[in-house]
Amino acid sequence: MVDEPPGRGDAFARLAEDVVASLREHMEACADPEADAIRLAPLEDVTAALGVRELLREGGLGPGHPFLRAYLEGATRLHSPNCMAHQVAATLYPSAVADLIAGFTNNATSIYEMGPTAVAVELAVVDWMIEKVGWNRPSVGAAGDGRVDPGGVLTHGGSLANLTALLAARAVAAPEAWKEGVPQNLAILAPASAHFSLSRAAGIMGLGTDGIYLLPADPWERVLPDQIHRVHARAVADGKRVAALCANACATATGLYDPLEECGLWCRENDVWFHVDGAHGASALISQKERHRMRGADLADSLVWDTHKMLHTSALCAAVLVRDVRTLTAAFRQDADYVLHERADPPGPDLLPRTVECTKPAIGLKLALNLAVYGEAGLARRVESLYERTRSLARVIRTHASFDVPFEPQSNILCFRYRPGDDNAQERLRERLLADGRYYVSSATLGGRRYLRLTIMSARTTDDTVRGLLERIEALAQLPGGSLAGPPRSSSPGRIP
Ligand SMILES: *Cc1c(COP(=O)(O)O)cnc(C)c1O
Repeated sequence: MVDEPPGRGDAFARLAEDVVASLREHMEACADPEADAIRLAPLEDVTAALGVRELLREGGLGPGHPFLRAYLEGATRLHSPNCMAHQVAATLYPSAVADLIAGFTNNATSIYEMGPTAVAVELAVVDWMIEKVGWNRPSVGAAGDGRVDPGGVLTHGGSLANLTALLAARAVAAPEAWKEGVPQNLAILAPASAHFSLSRAAGIMGLGTDGIYLLPADPWERVLPDQIHRVHARAVADGKRVAALCANACATATGLYDPLEECGLWCRENDVWFHVDGAHGASALISQKERHRMRGADLADSLVWDTHKMLHTSALCAAVLVRDVRTLTAAFRQDADYVLHERADPPGPDLLPRTVECTKPAIGLKLALNLAVYGEAGLARRVESLYERTRSLARVIRTHASFDVPFEPQSNILCFRYRPGDDNAQERLRERLLADGRYYVSSATLGGRRYLRLTIMSARTTDDTVRGLLERIEALAQLPGGSLAGPPRSSSPGRIP
C-alpha cells in the first residue's frame, strides 16, 4: 500500500469522514456559551496529552485515533462566542474546504503552467478586490487622464504584504536600490500606531527603523493630516527622500481608521507614495454601510487587505494591491521592463515577478469559495453585523459602573478598562481571565495607558456574552490570591469554581 496514490482507496475517505465528524463535534462544542474559549496548559502537558512524540516515531494514525480529538480538545476555540482576543477569523467552512483542495492538488501560483486554475482564481479574487477599492474608475486627483492599470498579488499575510508594498514604493523612490543597494537617505512617514510589520519592513529593507518619521496623531492615535507637512519638512531638512506615507485602515490596537482621504490628497499634492494598511479594516469596502470609513482608499498607491480577518477565510491570505501594476514588478526586478513572461504568446501570466514567494499555494481559493457560497452580499452582511455588534457591546460596557470605554468603536475592535484598577490591574485581570479560560480577551497600550481589548470575530458573540465577561472580571478582581497591583506575575490565581 506504500505506493497507493493519496486520495485513492478507503483510507483517505475513512480518515476524512472521521475528521469531518470530529470537526462537527468541535464546532458544536464551540457554540456553547458556558464552555471555555481557551485552555492553557503547560507545553509538556499538552505534548503528552497529544501523544505526538510517539506518533511521530511510530506512525499508525487512522480513523478513531485519539490524537485528533486530543488536538481539538486543546485547541483555542475561535468559533466560541467567548473568544474575543485576536483578529483571526472564525472561519467559514468553504475556506477550510478550499485548504483541503489546495492541499491535495498542490498547484503553485507563481508560474502559470504550474497551476492555471489556481492563477485564474487568484487573479479573479485580486480583480474583485481592486473593483472594491474603486480603481476601475479614473482615480481621483491623479495626474493626466488618471488611467493606469491596477494589479496585485496574494501573499502569506499582512506582514509580508506590507513589506511587498513598501518594496514597490522603494522601487519608485530609489530604482537604483535593487542593484546598487539601499541609499542611506530613504525615509517613510507613519503613525506610531502602525502595525509592527511596518517597522520590521523598514529594518528588512535597509531603511532602518530610524528611517521611519512618526506622524503626529490625536489622543486615540489617529493621524492628524494637517500636521503631515511638518514631519515631511523635517525629513527633507534631514536630507531624506520620502519613499512613502503609511496610514492605518484600521489601526491594530484600537480599530480606528486614519483619515485616508486627507492623507491621500496630501500625498498626491506632494508626490509621495500613499500606502494604506488595510490588513484588518479594508473589508469595510464591501459594505455599503461601512465603506465610508475607507473614503480616500482609491487615492492609495498601494493597499494591503487580509482575507483571514474580516473576510472569514483561514490563515493566511493577504492581498497587495497597487494602483499601477508596473510598480509591483519593479519591486523585484529593475531589468524586467515590466514584462511578466518571455514567451511570445503565453497562455497566462506568471505571478512570480510580483512576490517574494516562490512556491506559493492556491490561497486565493479560500476567499473564492467563501464568496462562491455566501456571495458578496453574504460576506458584507457579516462585516456589517460584527461592526454593529461591537458598537452595541460598547453601549453594554458603558452602562456598567465599573467599566469605561474610551472611544466609540469604528470597527469590530473595542478597548475598555476596569475602572477600579490601574494599568497593572488591567494586565493582571487578563492573566486571571487566561488562567480561568472561559473568556479570551487581549490588551493594548494606548496613549500610555493599558486597556483590555476585544476583537469580535464570531457572529455568536452577543451582548449577553459581554455581560458575562464583565461579571467574570469583577469576580476575578475579588479573587483571593493577591491584589491587582504590581507588575505581571508568571502565575495567576486559578479559575472561578
Ligand atoms: C493584522 C495586521 C497586520 C499583520 O497581518 P498578518 O496577516 O498577521 O501578517 C498588519 N497590519 C494591520 C493593520 C493589522 O491589523
